[in-house]
Amino acid sequence: MNREDFAILKQQVHGRNLVYLDNAATSQKPQQVVDAIVEAYQSWNSNIHRGVHHLSQVATMKHEEARKKVAAFIGAKSSDEIVFTKGTTDSLNALAFCLGECRMANGEGYIQEGDEIIVSGLEHHSNIVPWQMLCERKKAVLRHIPLQDDLSLNIEAFKGLLNEKTKLVSVAHVSNVLGTIQPVEEIIRLSHERGIPVCIDGAQSVPHMKVDVQVLDCDFLVFSGHKLYGPTGIGVLYGKREWLEKLPPHEGGGEMINHVRWEGTTYNELPYKFEAGTPNFVGSYALQKAIEYIESIGWEAIEAHERELTEYCEKQLKDVWCTVYSAGCKKAGVISFNMGTVHPFDVGTLLDQQGVAVRTGHHCAEPLIDEMGVPGTVRVSFGLYNDKEDVDRFIEALKKAQMMLM
Ligand code: PMP
Repeated sequence: MNREDFAILKQQVHGRNLVYLDNAATSQKPQQVVDAIVEAYQSWNSNIHRGVHHLSQVATMKHEEARKKVAAFIGAKSSDEIVFTKGTTDSLNALAFCLGECRMANGEGYIQEGDEIIVSGLEHHSNIVPWQMLCERKKAVLRHIPLQDDLSLNIEAFKGLLNEKTKLVSVAHVSNVLGTIQPVEEIIRLSHERGIPVCIDGAQSVPHMKVDVQVLDCDFLVFSGHKLYGPTGIGVLYGKREWLEKLPPHEGGGEMINHVRWEGTTYNELPYKFEAGTPNFVGSYALQKAIEYIESIGWEAIEAHERELTEYCEKQLKDVWCTVYSAGCKKAGVISFNMGTVHPFDVGTLLDQQGVAVRTGHHCAEPLIDEMGVPGTVRVSFGLYNDKEDVDRFIEALKKAQMMLM
């Protein structure tokens, strides 16, 4: 699908045509995104918000148009609810800090000693460590939703974890290790019944399916531009207006101020309050182009294509002696497996020598990998430009690796 737009895929690696199956780590960029970055630096690069001159106004307009595009893309009510960050990790760290410093109308801290935050047993470290750090600062407690034998979330146990001390639930929409789509609608509904806000880590869902914050009714959504066919260094923290208004800023300087006096500083309105320093306006512009690129193909076509590839690949894997984790579950283009007791690193190295790029290891989800009782997995993950030929090449390379290793 649209493979010709991705020049990087035309190269050879170790004498073979590259097969890129590491999209969950980062996706390749279509020419339209690469051109947008070149255009920005060749035509209108200038610092935004502060200039009266023409280029500054053009750059400001482009950045704000990009914000509107992102808002429409995820169904936010207003572009004021879109905070540009460096990526998912940055968004989660910002949110954790802001929630920790948030004061309620009565002046008390929103997170107090003994309060609880819930994540799930299959989170990426980026959705664990910032909460651990917050809990350490506030003497709060981090809980996690346990997994069932099939590595799905134990929703009954989740119900038991929710209580009056729970201050936030933060879960991945799609597991970056297993590709499984989590029951976030149910998690949000159950949390909201108790008035608890929910943050959705959309790093692996936003690039592969239609995610609408109105439909989900999540309070926060975080994701990265670089997994969404956009550039590195740009990401999004979406928050419902009522939440973003309550939260204090996490960084100082630049456009986040209203007035600075020696006696103290007042803060800018949304979303600028959360964007200290020179924003990544070239990144936001290129992200807009990535979103337009996705929209030009359409979610229906992308989702159907990636689903077909995933099913095709899982079927082919049955001919190879390996364990596929969460096989047959509803997935978003990610498959994790192991070949007996062969270390995933060895499998990955042999695939690389045949021009096939996959990821191996713990995928920054050590608690899940520990629970699975394996040293790591081999992970293939699809993007819209992958095709059945890529899967065939991968399977052929895997069979060769199997012959060499076993
Ligand atoms: N959450 C999930 C589910 C992810 O897959 C990733 C990236 N692997 C992240 C968070 C972190 O994203 P980034 O490195 O772009 O901040």
